[in-house]
Amino acid sequence: MPVKNRFAELLPEITAWRRDFHEHPELLFDVHRTAAKVADLLRQFGCDEVVEGIGRTGVVGVIKGKTNTVGRVVGLRADMDALPIIEQTGVPYASKTPGKMHACGHDGHTAMLLGAAKYLAETRNFDGTTIVIFQPAEEGGGGGREMVADGMMDRWGIQEVYGMHNMPGIPVGHFAIRKGALMAAADQFEITVTGKGGHAAKPHDCVDTTVVAAHIVVALQTIASRNVDPLKQVVVSVCTVETDSTAHNVIPQVVKMKGTVRTMDHKVQDFVETRIAEIVSGTALALGATATVNYARGYPVTINADENTDYAVEVARQVSGQVDPDTAPLMGAEDFSFMLNERPGAYIFVGNGDTAMVHHPAYNFDDNVIPFGASWYAGMVESRMPAA
Ligand SMILES: [Zn+2]
Ligand SMILES: [Zn+2]
Repeated sequence: MPVKNRFAELLPEITAWRRDFHEHPELLFDVHRTAAKVADLLRQFGCDEVVEGIGRTGVVGVIKGKTNTVGRVVGLRADMDALPIIEQTGVPYASKTPGKMHACGHDGHTAMLLGAAKYLAETRNFDGTTIVIFQPAEEGGGGGREMVADGMMDRWGIQEVYGMHNMPGIPVGHFAIRKGALMAAADQFEITVTGKGGHAAKPHDCVDTTVVAAHIVVALQTIASRNVDPLKQVVVSVCTVETDSTAHNVIPQVVKMKGTVRTMDHKVQDFVETRIAEIVSGTALALGATATVNYARGYPVTINADENTDYAVEVARQVSGQVDPDTAPLMGAEDFSFMLNERPGAYIFVGNGDTAMVHHPAYNFDDNVIPFGASWYAGMVESRMPAA
């Protein structure tokens, strides 16, 4: 099974959908136009069931195979949302909404999964049920979490799930994946340091929150450098520092700092959360201030199940023959993790060639990826649920 011939025929149509989505980017859960078009097309393809409004604005389509003797149900997922970026691609189908842009290629993911759905609804050459999942709000809103919380997995009896993301820097048609942790858990924290503000010429009468905050920023670096096993991945970044003084001669009363933590392992994640609290309160105590930490868990680590990764690699091999089964993990985070936490499955990268990186204003999804991505989605169904 190389690239399916049908996708060569469907390429102009799928490309037209992709470019239409690109022209009309929508953010987070506000993907009403995109979701409506997805649902319309799924109905035109003859899906057995199409349900809108799952996880607020997500869409689910059901495609039954010719037979259903084993009772297997496979979920395929794409994301629909864009980013708040001013587009600089200069393409004729560039965003018509200034300040919104499909800069992560979710336009391509949605179009490729629609292509696979059209093919699967036409051929139905499998034994079981395919669930196509189109989620909103991947870019920070937790749309995947919302769809899971809405009961999607149980409602359709989904047994395993597969997702895909394009990746600049990997040649078009090549795939990359790994078993275990592929992408990081992304948490965020907010630290508030309270001291005693006052005249900058009389520091002995104050508790200088700026100095306390500076010590905390430096001490937090020891989590990665001194506390966590060097063979484990961890990032602790303090990204904003804000004080309530705007003057050059006033020591602030309060300093607030915000940052992010990236980890690949639940134990390291728990440890870092505890250690941040210890370092912050201990450093503040040592210097006579008080401090609090507000720590919020975000997207969990993306974990590819071993067996399902093998299936994904096998299909990628059949599609293009080019697959790296042991790609390096990334410290970015992915909302598909919420689905992978519920069911075994795998998440794979498909090359987007030598383009700007995702989230860059000059990034664009390469339409030449479509036959590879659509073939992989459809191939996962035909190989996991071979026709009886
Ligand atoms: Zn993104
Ligand atoms: Zn993305």
